[in-house]
Amino acid sequence: MTHEQSRDLYDRALSVLPGGVNSAVRAAIEPYPPFVERGDDGHVIDADGNRYIDWVMGLGPLLYGHDTPQPVEAAIQSHASEGPMYGMPTEIEVEHAEFVARHVPSVEMLRFVNSGTEATVSACRLARAHTGRDKIVVMQGGYHGAQETTLVEGEYDDTRPSSPGIPQSFADETLAIPFNDEEAAHRVFEDYGDEIAGVLVEPILANYGIVRPVDGYHETLRDLTDEHDSLLIFDEVITGFRVGGLQCAQGKFGIEPDLTTFGKLIGGGFPVGAIGGPARLMEQFTPSGDVFQAGTFSGHPVTMAAGLESLRYAAEHDVHDHIHDLGEQLRHGLAEIVEEQAPSYTVTGTDGMFKLVFTRGAPDSFEDHCEGGCAQREDCPRYDHCPKTGADVAAGETDRWRRVFWPKMKDEGVFLSQNQFESQFVTYAHTDEDVETTLEAYKEAL
Ligand SMILES: *Cc1c(COP(=O)(O)O)cnc(C)c1O
Repeated sequence: MTHEQSRDLYDRALSVLPGGVNSAVRAAIEPYPPFVERGDDGHVIDADGNRYIDWVMGLGPLLYGHDTPQPVEAAIQSHASEGPMYGMPTEIEVEHAEFVARHVPSVEMLRFVNSGTEATVSACRLARAHTGRDKIVVMQGGYHGAQETTLVEGEYDDTRPSSPGIPQSFADETLAIPFNDEEAAHRVFEDYGDEIAGVLVEPILANYGIVRPVDGYHETLRDLTDEHDSLLIFDEVITGFRVGGLQCAQGKFGIEPDLTTFGKLIGGGFPVGAIGGPARLMEQFTPSGDVFQAGTFSGHPVTMAAGLESLRYAAEHDVHDHIHDLGEQLRHGLAEIVEEQAPSYTVTGTDGMFKLVFTRGAPDSFEDHCEGGCAQREDCPRYDHCPKTGADVAAGETDRWRRVFWPKMKDEGVFLSQNQFESQFVTYAHTDEDVETTLEAYKEAL
C-alpha cells in the first residue's frame, strides 16, 4: 500500500489550507490523511488507488454509502440543471418540510439552514428569545457544532471558552453538566432554574464515543424543563433519521422535545441543517415573528431534493432494517472478539452506529452482559464500566486507538473514523461481506 499521491496532495494543501484541511478532525490521521479519489458503494478509493471499506461515511450524512439510489440521483441532477438556486421559494422546500413534519411528532414547522452549527445557533437564539433568559445547559462531551455558546470547557457554572476568539461572556451563559447524571441536572435547575432558557442535548452522545442515555435520564430533563418553563432542545443532527428510523431518536425514546435540530442525513449528502418544533415556537422566527433568522442558501433546491428523495426512498424500502441488521452483526461480532482479546474494552452504538471504546479496567467476565454492545442496562455486570459521560470515553486509551490501532485497521483495508471519539456509520451500501472483512480486521488489529 503506497500513499505517495496523498502525501504530495497534503504537502500542497499545507500551503493553501490551514493544517491542510477544511475541518479539523480530518487531519487527526498522522502523518497525513489519505486523500479520497472517489467512493464506490460501501468503499472509498484513495488518491493512490488503495481501496478501503468505509465506515466514516462523511461522518454522518450518507444513508446509501457512495451508491446514490437512482431516484435520488435523478432528483439531484434535475434540480442542479434547472437553477441551481433562486433566492425565491420553491415547492421542494415545502415538500421536504411536510415529510419531516409527518414523521417526527414534535415537529409541526421547520426552518431549513445550511449546517448543523447554524441550526443549533438559531435554536439557542429562539430559546433565549422565547423565555427572555440567557443561560443554556449543555452536556460535557456533547457537540453542537462550531458555535460560541457551546464551545465551552470546564464544569457546571465554571465554564470558559474551549477556543481562543470566543469572549468569556459567552461561556458565562453556558452551564455544562455531565450526561446521564440526574443529580447534576436537578442541581443546575435548583441553582439557576429561572435563568435557564433551555437544555441542549444530543439524545445519544454521538460525537464522543457513542454514549447512550441511562433509563429515565431524558424523562428527567423533560420534567425539569417543563417545571421551570425552559425548553428541551434535542440536537438530532447526527441521530435524526438514523436512530429510530424515520421517527428519529426522540421517537425511539418516547420523548417529545420542544425544539429539534437536524442536519447531516436530511440533506442527502449536501450541506444542510434545520430547526423544527411546534408552530407556537417556530413562528417566532422572522418573518412571522421577530427572532432574526436568514440565509442565502437556506432551503437550497438541490439539497432539498437530495434530502427529501433520500428519506422517501428509505420510507419505501428496507433501508433502516438493512442498516440495523448489519449494525447488530457488527456489534455482536465485536463483542465476541473483545471477550477473547481485549475484555476491558466496550462495544457501543445502536442502529446504524458503532464504536469500540478502549475503556480500561472493566471485568473479564462477560456473563449476563449487554449482548449487542452497552445498552446501559443496570443489571449488566459491566454496567459501571460502560461509559456514561464524555469524560468516561476520554479516560480510555485514546492514543493507542489513534496511533496504533487505526493505522493497523487501515492496512487491513478498513477505514474507521479518525479518532476514538467520532462515531462510525453503517449504510445501505454495506454488505455482509464488508462486515465479515471488518471483523477479521479487528481480530488482527486488537
Ligand atoms: C455534526 C454535528 C453538529 C454540527 O453540524 P455541522 O453540519 O458540522 O455544522 C451539531 N450537532 C451534532 C449532534 C452533530 O453531530
